Amino acid sequence: MADNITFFTNVVKVYPFEQNIGFVLSLGMVVFALTALLLTLLSSRFTTKPILIVLLIVSSLTNYFMQSYHVIIDDEMIRNVIQTNIAESSDLLTPALLFYFVFLGLLPAYLVYKAPITYRSVKTEAWAKIKTVLAMLLIIGASLFFYSKYYTSFFREHKPLRFTVNPLYWIYSSGKYIHLTYLNVPVKLKQIGTDAKIPPHTPPKLVVMVVGEAARSDHFSLNGYHRETNPELSQRDIINFDHMYSCGTATAQSVPCMFSVYTRKEYSYQKGRSTENVLDVLKHTGNVAILWRDNNSDSKGVAARIGETDYRTPKHNTICTEGECRDIGMLVGLEQFIQNHPKKDILIVLHQMGNHGPAYYKRYTHDFKKFTPVCKSSQLQECSRDEIVNAYDNALRYTDHFLSKTIDLLKHYDGTYQTAMLYMSDHGESLGENGIYLHGLPYFMAPDAQRHIGALFWFGKSLRKSAKVTSLEKHRHEHFSQDYLFHTLLGLFDVNTTVYNPKLDMLGK
Ligand SMILES: [Zn+2]
Repeated sequence: MADNITFFTNVVKVYPFEQNIGFVLSLGMVVFALTALLLTLLSSRFTTKPILIVLLIVSSLTNYFMQSYHVIIDDEMIRNVIQTNIAESSDLLTPALLFYFVFLGLLPAYLVYKAPITYRSVKTEAWAKIKTVLAMLLIIGASLFFYSKYYTSFFREHKPLRFTVNPLYWIYSSGKYIHLTYLNVPVKLKQIGTDAKIPPHTPPKLVVMVVGEAARSDHFSLNGYHRETNPELSQRDIINFDHMYSCGTATAQSVPCMFSVYTRKEYSYQKGRSTENVLDVLKHTGNVAILWRDNNSDSKGVAARIGETDYRTPKHNTICTEGECRDIGMLVGLEQFIQNHPKKDILIVLHQMGNHGPAYYKRYTHDFKKFTPVCKSSQLQECSRDEIVNAYDNALRYTDHFLSKTIDLLKHYDGTYQTAMLYMSDHGESLGENGIYLHGLPYFMAPDAQRHIGALFWFGKSLRKSAKVTSLEKHRHEHFSQDYLFHTLLGLFDVNTTVYNPKLDMLGK
């Protein structure tokens, strides 16, 4: 029950305890009965202890994360956790987490381990089980009957409350994750845009696509934020988009979705996995050399057929300072790649570490520490909101610098290539509004901060003069989303293919 603090705190917010004492107690009984029912059905001489131990340990952790960061452990979150590397997760290891882990997880688990359990004959055990199951069903049935009005509203109006029931919801989510990921593995990759062609042109194109991390739109001074977070970009001739929305609220969701042919409404993890993306279509033209450099976790399968280079360690990244390999290190040696692919169009994708939380203070070098004091802990609840926001804004200034340096690099090629840089964050970030931190809430209930993202384009001299770009300039305040990226990239490279939809090309407006 102690692992359900988040759930009951949320319940009492919706149903004040004094007026709803009966319902809240009955809800407690239902959660207890459901858990007992599940355990009774799963338990046997050989399974009882291992199952209880795993449940206690995992639930103590989910309890901590739900309480500290107000996140929800659904199948997308499990995918995030599993696809996240140790270096990133180590930011989350805090003394408080250890406390939850030891006192609500390890210690009870140890007691379970040591507890003597006497098993009776199979017949007695089976009878006892049937009795327990019946009793639990009776409790659930009676509660639903006597408080039916409450439960209808509970299930219909307050869906999100269910997401915090420990351990039932994370067990359900794990099942969903395993089902989606392993049991439903697509047998065949669906090829798309195999007819893709690019008409002959000179000079060739050189495009850098920067995939940002957790950069929320309203903290860009380009979008009217009161602090100077874009001192360098505001000196470059960029086109900024102030109404750009993400496909998901987490990296594992947004990154494959933004490169996929599917819109947010059509997209699913399986569809994304089993269908080629815009990089594959560009590859089918036979005319575009593609490079993916990753300083985040990885490409989430987007570069599966292209290949990617890891920039999180000094092995490839030559700019690692103050314990972190910097985004700017991804720019080193790009000249070599460009030289090696003469006369071809080039697309370079740079996947940033950006504003990856909760340790925002690690995401920039000391010369970007402009807003102080900063939160120097991964336990965000220990810091004041101002300290968290200060660290976040400093990290955003570092991205401002990185993007400006990327533009400066492209400027060197302005005579020999048609150059462009596209920047789009994967999702936004909550910074403590209503007690919510980080990101990853289910899309329908996620606050704007997690979905409204930073995005901007820059074009070199020749493209800047084109009709497409002059027209795009007029549309920069319109509502756009990651649904547009697939077709905008095809439009930018002038690809002719049946999968191209001009309505979702930002440059075709
Ligand atoms: Zn992300």
